[in-house]
Amino acid sequence: MRTKASKGASDTIHSLMSSPEAILSDFSRFYILLLLFEGPKHGYDILAKIEERLGQKASPSLVYPFLKQLEESKIVDFQSESTGRRKRKRYSLTSEGKSLCTRLFKQFTTIVSSAIEPSMSTCSHCGCRVYKDAYYEVINGKKLAFCCTYCASSYKKSAVAKRQEA
Ligand SMILES: [Zn+2]
Repeated sequence: MRTKASKGASDTIHSLMSSPEAILSDFSRFYILLLLFEGPKHGYDILAKIEERLGQKASPSLVYPFLKQLEESKIVDFQSESTGRRKRKRYSLTSEGKSLCTRLFKQFTTIVSSAIEPSMSTCSHCGCRVYKDAYYEVINGKKLAFCCTYCASSYKKSAVAKRQEA
């Protein structure tokens, strides 16, 4: 079972990267796993949450077969609940499913980090990484990036001190 689950993870990552058209549906699948990772959910909870948080309608024809697939791969388990005349399934991740998600999210984090890396700069003073809206200042003819104005002024102070030492 373990090999089957890990294959699923790399398949998801692979299809995520290879086919742009598949990205949206694959992203929905990924998001379904993320929602289940937060806690047990009914199919319609998942549909509602996708719409609420991603601002797009998820297709039940994607969600339900995917849940079925997860169920068959023992990634999710379900509890039957009957409310009135309807039977509903409440899905939750199995422990195998949880460890699969942890691995998957780690891989995804790596992908996301490399995707945002080019738009990041490093604060010239404290060295922290800044995503968007870095503060720039020209010091001694060089345009330098800072995380904030405080770092910029500290940098200037120490630059002046260094020059006086020299
Ligand atoms: Zn800084």
